[in-house]
Amino acid sequence: PLPFPLKIVNCYALRDGVAWIMLERPDVSNAQNHRLLDQLDDLFRQAVEDDAVKVIVLGGRGKHFSAGHDLGTAEKDRHMERERKLLWYSHLNCEGAEGQYVLEQDAYLGFCRRWQDIPKPMIAMVQGACIAGGLMLAWVCDMIVASDDAFFQDPVVRMGVPGVEYFAHAFELPPRIAREFLLLGERMSAERAYQLGMVNRIVPRTDLEASVERIALELASRPRFGMVLTKQAINLVEDLRGKKSAMDSVFHMHHLAHAQNQLVSGNLVRGMDAKAMASANKAQAGEGRKPE
Ligand code: ZN
Repeated sequence: PLPFPLKIVNCYALRDGVAWIMLERPDVSNAQNHRLLDQLDDLFRQAVEDDAVKVIVLGGRGKHFSAGHDLGTAEKDRHMERERKLLWYSHLNCEGAEGQYVLEQDAYLGFCRRWQDIPKPMIAMVQGACIAGGLMLAWVCDMIVASDDAFFQDPVVRMGVPGVEYFAHAFELPPRIAREFLLLGERMSAERAYQLGMVNRIVPRTDLEASVERIALELASRPRFGMVLTKQAINLVEDLRGKKSAMDSVFHMHHLAHAQNQLVSGNLVRGMDAKAMASANKAQAGEGRKPE
């Protein structure tokens, strides 16, 4: 028996042609365990297959959009069997670097690519923290609407890994900024992300849901097929600029890093743990400059 119920992590509501899919682990800042991601995939499928759904909104309940992949909560489930969605074998019973590679091919890179191709417009509704794996969920959406308190961060270089598995950094940000974003791993404010074109709108926190709803309803009035083709056109242009092949290549660097960390320390990630990370963030904020 599982130590916790199977289907508790996300919630789904259909309102006026808009499917609202909310990450539902607010007590752990919507940290993404595999159960949450597998279920998210189910909910996206439900939204795609339902003709009543014109637009999909992805948000997170509570103070933060998502703190990233679940590295340490009680419901962390990396060592449990999961329902695979792509044609990969189980990551359990693999030796050495194979298990994590197989797991991430399916559950991280594979999922994100599949979600980026969802044939309906998707809006990420981001408040508070959008960290590491959180970025992956926001980046696969067509538009990102952020509240003024939102911030973005990929701090995994501090753990010896060159960025999250879905390596869109240098496509989402100008290369010089992507270097800074990764190398320093500091928080980027919604305001700076907006100036750099990574975010479409910034709105007050209290208006976030209403603002997203306005945009979603506007999109819902457009012809479906026109929107599908437009989405495919932009995805195609990004791929012609090398997004897909860059991601494939960097994914293997990411796994070289996991393997190196395993060899040296016995863990997939090393260097800063969650506590050291929190105090580094506090120090950044405490230096008197606004986190950005
Ligand atoms: Zn990884």
